[in-house]
Amino acid sequence: MRFGLLAFPLALFVVNAAGAAAEKAPPPYTLTEVWTPIPPVVATPVGSVPSDAIVLFDGTDLDAWEPVQPNGHPWRIEDGAMVVIPTPAPARPCDQQTKRAFGDIQLHAEFRTPAVVKGNGQDRGNSGVFFMGLYELQILDSTNNPTYVNGQSGSVYKEHAPLVDASRGPGEWQVYDAIFIAPRFSADGKLLSPARITAFQNGVLVQFNVALTGPTPNGPTYNLPKLPPYEAHAAKLPLLLQDHRTPVSFRNIWVRELNLPDTKS
Ligand code: MG
Repeated sequence: MRFGLLAFPLALFVVNAAGAAAEKAPPPYTLTEVWTPIPPVVATPVGSVPSDAIVLFDGTDLDAWEPVQPNGHPWRIEDGAMVVIPTPAPARPCDQQTKRAFGDIQLHAEFRTPAVVKGNGQDRGNSGVFFMGLYELQILDSTNNPTYVNGQSGSVYKEHAPLVDASRGPGEWQVYDAIFIAPRFSADGKLLSPARITAFQNGVLVQFNVALTGPTPNGPTYNLPKLPPYEAHAAKLPLLLQDHRTPVSFRNIWVRELNLPDTKS
């Protein structure tokens, strides 16, 4: 009986200690919750651009741009659009490039091929967005306009045909939203990782994380029998818009510089 009286408070202590331990232990589901680091806030106001975007053309001026050729001319602004002034052959086309250089970016660019349809194949509504001035996401009036599929609208020129043809017709505004990851080179110029592009045309996926074999052929490399290989270059280079002798229009161009966790060199 005396033994039993002692055992009762001891039993209470054991029960309380077990209860306290149970209170301190985190619920299992919290073990999979991550609270830091807190992602930075990017405001996304309706009808405007993300707060961390670098606006390259908002319809008012060409201050962010310059002709690639030193003696080249700027394009013109018409009704809030930046319009290619086509350079007649055989003079060298007058591409425009950003004054600022970029590496990995998210791009938004709206474009419109001419409403008046002229020419066929690559000579109809041709322009292009050249990431780093070297890697082209093609712009072409692809409506009822057969051409090689790795050169149609939405292609990474001569490297990757688009997954689907999401083109709108001539004279209609279209949208490219794209992710470009720059190639990485070692200090001695060897390719560590290729350039990559993911792109949406008018909200439809046309390129998914495709790896580029090198620069897309253009200018002096256009007539090569095979695609040009990589040559080591700077980590950041200007974005370029192509004069392909067609009055293609652009508006609402912005980029966001990316610093993705798995692409840091
Ligand atoms: Mg082009």
